[in-house]
Amino acid sequence: MGLTTPNSEIDLTRPQPRALIDPFMRTITYLRVSVTDRCDFRCVYCMSEHMSFLPKADLLSLEELDRLCSAFVAKGVNKLRLTGGEPLVRRGIMTLVESLSRHLTSGALKELTLTTNGSQLTKYAAELKGHGVERINVSLDTLDADKFRAITRWGDLSKVMAGIDAAQAAGLKVKINAVALKGVNEDELAGMVEWAHGRGMDMTIIEVMPLGETGEDRIDQYLPLSMVRARLAERFTLDDIDYQTGGPARYMRVKETGGRLGFITPMTHNFCESCNRVRITCTGTLYMCLGQEDAADLRAPLRASEGDDLIHAAIDDAITRKPKGHDFVIDRRAHRPALSRHMSVTGG
Ligand code: SAM
Ligand code: SF4
Repeated sequence: MGLTTPNSEIDLTRPQPRALIDPFMRTITYLRVSVTDRCDFRCVYCMSEHMSFLPKADLLSLEELDRLCSAFVAKGVNKLRLTGGEPLVRRGIMTLVESLSRHLTSGALKELTLTTNGSQLTKYAAELKGHGVERINVSLDTLDADKFRAITRWGDLSKVMAGIDAAQAAGLKVKINAVALKGVNEDELAGMVEWAHGRGMDMTIIEVMPLGETGEDRIDQYLPLSMVRARLAERFTLDDIDYQTGGPARYMRVKETGGRLGFITPMTHNFCESCNRVRITCTGTLYMCLGQEDAADLRAPLRASEGDDLIHAAIDDAITRKPKGHDFVIDRRAHRPALSRHMSVTGG
């Protein structure tokens, strides 16, 4: 089943809608799309154990998601990342991947990728590769099966490991994303770096961010990456390198393993000055910043007409409101998350 409609084709020989440049002269070229807020895990830093999810009727259809993504591609977005919730639990997701891959073929898109918990990769890795996906991020915070169960509440480490095997066997480049969690995986991170690099995978370590109620205390989870880095530096030689993936990670080369290690530090280092991205949720809400409440509804203009003029106008208007940056803080006195929205809604 194809998702393409006449309006979603991009003819590069015709004048294109104007590019997305925000008030701080940052050009928006990267769109992250949360295709579902649902997930087969309940990671302690991401969700509460008994999450309530959006009614399915509120979700954009796969055709609508395709139209919306294509509108952004027409406006100069050249990198698309599907995320969630868990993107691979959305029914029919491969139809969307397949249809979006036409923008790779046309050259409008440089990269189509996704962030996944890995649980469904044995099923989908080969198909992803077949549709032009070259690299994926797999989130994995521990190599210990019991700890994995404790962190994800519902996950099974062996399935994720089999998924990573399948992805590599299919020829996908895998990057491991690990959230640093105080007292949980901090002693394991050096071993994980060796493991990931030993398998030819880059690794990125992420600071926990105060997004959404999870039923857990953020102060208990929060581990500044400056400490992680200092500890890793006792074991490894870390050389700063000028490697960019279009994301916020700062990369080093680990001399002993030869592999790349990234640090994403939203709490201790504000990387907003070079932000090139926006996010849409599975209901068509556009967030101009992961760390701010302001948003724009794109579902109404999407559904209001068959043409894309209204969507383009709504996107242009929203980009004029892209804020300079976020201001997360994990505050001992405030027993609330900095933002009520969960990461699984906005898409990590
Ligand atoms: N389910 C997929 C996965 O886990 O990769 C995609 C969505 S998940 C929300 C995307 C990323 O956000 C994951 O790497 C996850 O570890 C990270 N994440 C979730 N909640 C977070 C938080 N509060 N702080 C920092 N990272 C978080
Ligand atoms: Fe699911 Fe990813 Fe959130 Fe874990 S981090 S609960 S896998 S969406």
